[in-house]
Amino acid sequence: MDSREARIHSIGNALFAAVQHHQPTPWSGTRAWLHDRGMAWSMADHDLQLHLFRFIDALPGLRTDQAVATQVGEYLAPVADRLPWLAQRILAGMPAAPARLVAAAVHRGAHELAGRFLLGSASATIAAAVQRLHQDGLCFTIDWLGEAVLTEAEADAYQQAYIRLIPDLVRSTAGWPAIPGVPTVNVSIKLSALTSRFEPADIAGTSRRVRERLRPILRLAQHHGALVNIDMEHHAYRDATMRIFTTVLEESEFRRWSNVGLAIQAYLRSSGQDLADLAGWARQRGAPIWVRLVKGAYWDHEQAFAAQRGWVSPVFAGKAATDANFEMQTRFLLSQRDWLRPAIAGHNVRSVAHAIAIRDELGLAQDAVEFQLLHGMADPLKSALAERGERVRVYCPVGELLPGIAYLVRRLLENTSNQGFVRAGFLEHRSPSSTSELLMAPVPQAAAPAQKPAFANHPPADFSRPDHRDLIRNALSEQQEERCPLVINGSSIFRDVQLVSRDPSQRERIVGRATAATAADAQAAMEAAARSLPRWRDTPWIERIACLDRAADRLAADRWQLSALLVREVGKSWREADGEVCEMIDFCRYYALQAARLASATPVDVPGETNDPIHDPRGVTVVIAPWNFPLAILGGMTVAALVTGNPVVMKPAEQAPVIAYALYRHLIAAGIPASVLHYLPGAGEVVGPVLTDHPATALIAFTGSRAVGLGLNRRAAEVLDERDHVVRVIAEMGGKNAIIVDASADLDEAVAGVVASAFGYQGQKCSACSRVIVHRDVYDIFTTRLIEAVRALQLGPAEHAGHLVGPVIDDASQQRLEDILRNLCTRHRCAVALDATALSAVGSYVAPHVFIDVDPASDLAQEELFGPILAVIPAEDLDAALRIANGTRYALTGGCFARSPAVLARVRREFRVGNLYLNRGITGALVQRQPFGGFKLSGIGSKAGGPDYLLQFTLPRTVTENTMRHGMVGDRET
Ligand code: NAD
Repeated sequence: MDSREARIHSIGNALFAAVQHHQPTPWSGTRAWLHDRGMAWSMADHDLQLHLFRFIDALPGLRTDQAVATQVGEYLAPVADRLPWLAQRILAGMPAAPARLVAAAVHRGAHELAGRFLLGSASATIAAAVQRLHQDGLCFTIDWLGEAVLTEAEADAYQQAYIRLIPDLVRSTAGWPAIPGVPTVNVSIKLSALTSRFEPADIAGTSRRVRERLRPILRLAQHHGALVNIDMEHHAYRDATMRIFTTVLEESEFRRWSNVGLAIQAYLRSSGQDLADLAGWARQRGAPIWVRLVKGAYWDHEQAFAAQRGWVSPVFAGKAATDANFEMQTRFLLSQRDWLRPAIAGHNVRSVAHAIAIRDELGLAQDAVEFQLLHGMADPLKSALAERGERVRVYCPVGELLPGIAYLVRRLLENTSNQGFVRAGFLEHRSPSSTSELLMAPVPQAAAPAQKPAFANHPPADFSRPDHRDLIRNALSEQQEERCPLVINGSSIFRDVQLVSRDPSQRERIVGRATAATAADAQAAMEAAARSLPRWRDTPWIERIACLDRAADRLAADRWQLSALLVREVGKSWREADGEVCEMIDFCRYYALQAARLASATPVDVPGETNDPIHDPRGVTVVIAPWNFPLAILGGMTVAALVTGNPVVMKPAEQAPVIAYALYRHLIAAGIPASVLHYLPGAGEVVGPVLTDHPATALIAFTGSRAVGLGLNRRAAEVLDERDHVVRVIAEMGGKNAIIVDASADLDEAVAGVVASAFGYQGQKCSACSRVIVHRDVYDIFTTRLIEAVRALQLGPAEHAGHLVGPVIDDASQQRLEDILRNLCTRHRCAVALDATALSAVGSYVAPHVFIDVDPASDLAQEELFGPILAVIPAEDLDAALRIANGTRYALTGGCFARSPAVLARVRREFRVGNLYLNRGITGALVQRQPFGGFKLSGIGSKAGGPDYLLQFTLPRTVTENTMRHGMVGDRET
């Protein structure tokens, strides 16, 4: 052990000895001992703990005594036999007990638990708490817990809470002896709560909004000599948070101010660079700042969030790696003491001892470093440190149970985590030998190499990254008007009769012009496709599959240009456009994989007999696509047909021929023969009948409106004279999708999920939510928040990342929706309608509208309107909600927000739609994970992006061969 390690162990052992001395006992006169025992008990059984914590998480959403009584039973029944005897008896007797009594007991328990980690928000409570800390020789920082901020009013309320808090704290601490160089009053703020639209992709807009609300708080703090610390939240907000922090502190009024700080999370791989950048910046600014070095509280979230998107995780994989990095960053931070004033935050005795050892090594004064710990956690360590003369600051979240629940659950998990130091260091009583184990230097373990799955979704762009933002911006700025021919058999035909594709955000901007196909062109394309069938059918699977793999690579390489084109041609936001490009890449890779499975389908052989499954192509396939996913839907249907050996006539929607031409070129460049794939932009009414009625048409793969889809199906059912087959139709059509909001829902999640599902891409997704069915008990509160959240939506050109809502597809659609809305406004209660008048002068904008108290039988609740229009429907109970949800002629997507396990189980069973989403938004299906498609009048066909999809493009045959030769069992001959 080197001398530094020896010193760390000696400091650590001394701290542990003092910690033992301060451990709570049943006789210490506080409830701490009881709390620790309760925590230790819950750790003994992981499953039990999970049920218990999930119930606690659901509790604030339970608004009636009956709901509390029912759900405590629902959550705990599966683990009832593992509860202590007394709790088992209580649970068994509960159905007979009055709900009021059960709810009162549960609430008392929950408040007791919450009270350990949270302070109430009343001024007097806060004043008393800081006074208590002061008496114990501890400093404080106060964090005002906010609910998820979804509306501007909530952001104002959060700001005002600090405006009141700072002078209150100044009053409460009046007369305390000053600590040299360190303000007494210290508050911690989360920037994301200062705007309803904290959008990492739009740093400039977010920064403007946040700074506007932050400045008055900073001024007040400056005036009172208080310190403001900016908390760090999820990794997605890191870049924005750091930029806002540095920008506001460069403003002239704050330039010289040093009573400000920022939290840095050591679990982030980027933390070393972030600290180095901050040190450089502070030096340049000429005034120091504080840095609170924490390990980070969102590890599980960061891991899951990155894994779901296929991103490299921003956090270290193991606890030891984080601990080791924490020590490395502690050394750096302390070495930069002139510019970065260190606050070492955490409950790990080893990390604390290490910081003290480094401080001594560097010859810094004791008060050059402070230690920060959370309220309710590791109290004996606070006392032990204070006893040594260290400055100890307690991070005190203030707020009620509802806004505090996420914080509370994080603390409970942290306290009881197997890996966490708190459990090992404070709750489990350790022998001296095991405490020395806890003081060992952290040694990161090398992670086992991950197994590569056969298919993984293409990782979406991460617009919280500056490089990704630059790439899309550059692609947008490089975009030029394009000329697109129609292409038959590889011959490009340019003519004067054109489809003009305009940017709906700004109608004067022409994205491109495409030759409009005539009926004769359609005829020619069909004939060319028919001629190519035998050759393409006999092309080995492996070659066709290789074309899709190459296409995926090409699309991936061109992703920013394709996204930019989608932004311009159909008015998608950056994220929506990027999501569509990724989906197209996924279709290529996934269908290539599925094709390989079909190609190698297992023969069923018995002695003397072979049985070979064969999948032939059906024949010439007509692909007809809508404009709302002009790349992924058009391309998905096309590559599915091609890889199974079908020649394709590809007819894009009139509104989006340019992106379709880009797709065509990529497919040809990837090796699809020009004789097999034909590109035919044109009006559906002109070319449609030729394509569907041609004798060679074997399959129509259509996605679009119900009227057109049913028309095609009807037409295809007729066996015309020259045909020797029945045309197969795959028709994916509309939806009238609903989200049920149950009384037990987490309303923060529900409001955000409904807004994103209803107004993302202006409600023009087939999966969009157009009905929200809300349980009576939460109808008013949900509707009020929904309306405010919709008011906060920013409407404007799609190319600006700050606009969640862009234009509708074109002027015709705008006109159609405006006519509908005029009519609806006279017959229904419109609760909010944003104003799009000014924008309409330049583009095709329709303001988001929310109608409330809507009759579920009305047209508004029954017809697909395909725009930013949402109907809110009250429901007496879950029976009614399900009846309303299922009560349309469509069955595409649906969703439910609920915390009650029984409600979720019932909705899972009884809400019958193609894609059902629980406790999340209902759009954004991913290939393989959420194969997409519905039934009833929403579609005929099996799910796109699912394992059965390709089968629809094939004619399955079986070849049986008798391999017996005069009693001799032989091998297959062919
Ligand atoms: P649409 O039906 O107007 O057009 C779809 C395609 O059909 C276009 O290419 C159009 O040119 C073509 N078409 C029109 N008339 C035709 C005819 N007589 N013969 C042959 N082709 C003809 O639909 P849209 O407005 O482009 O798309 C919006 C609709 O698509 C909505 O109803 C939406 O729900 C639906 N949609 C469904 C899904 C799904 O997977 N279920 C996905 C996306 C869109």
